[in-house]
Amino acid sequence: MSQLENLHKSPQLLRFGDPKLYEVSSPFNLPTEMSLAHQTLQFMEQVTQDMNIVGIAAPQIGILKRIVMFEVPAEHPRYKTDGVAIPMRVLINPSYKPLSDEKNLEWEACLSVPGMIGQVPRHTHIEYQYTDLEGNSHVYEASHFHARVVQHELDHLDGVLYPLRIKNMQTFGFREEVMVSTMFLESRQ
Ligand SMILES: [Zn+2]
Repeated sequence: MSQLENLHKSPQLLRFGDPKLYEVSSPFNLPTEMSLAHQTLQFMEQVTQDMNIVGIAAPQIGILKRIVMFEVPAEHPRYKTDGVAIPMRVLINPSYKPLSDEKNLEWEACLSVPGMIGQVPRHTHIEYQYTDLEGNSHVYEASHFHARVVQHELDHLDGVLYPLRIKNMQTFGFREEVMVSTMFLESRQ
């Protein structure tokens, strides 16, 4: 419980560079720690209240436990989506495996890396599993943007932020600058 007590009354988003973001989070001991999972989720919701987020993982607010929440929008102003919406899911102790070798390259951003974007290779098709807040197990297949969101959020639980996965660092930078420069590059192809 000490991790939660240390949050005081107002948990905050940690930003790129904070060493806690590079740590590996520990699983919830279920069902014993289910109430801890609920409490952690409350803090995550508190921090992202009124923000238009796709997802967040507990380490981003300094709680090193394996829980993430995400919602896949059908359309998004900044991301290439698939037109399919997935309502908010809360994943406790999640894991995934690729269903093929296929990868794709798309833009990502992160609450912990504000104002910036980069192009990240991710598995195109995955299967993921988790326990929900009622203690039920789920297994889903996901492709493209949905699969990307899952991989991005689960990476946080292992201390990996998306900039660490970027292959071409010329695609990483402040959103406005990168958008202008990549439009320039694409126009010359
Ligand atoms: Zn993130």
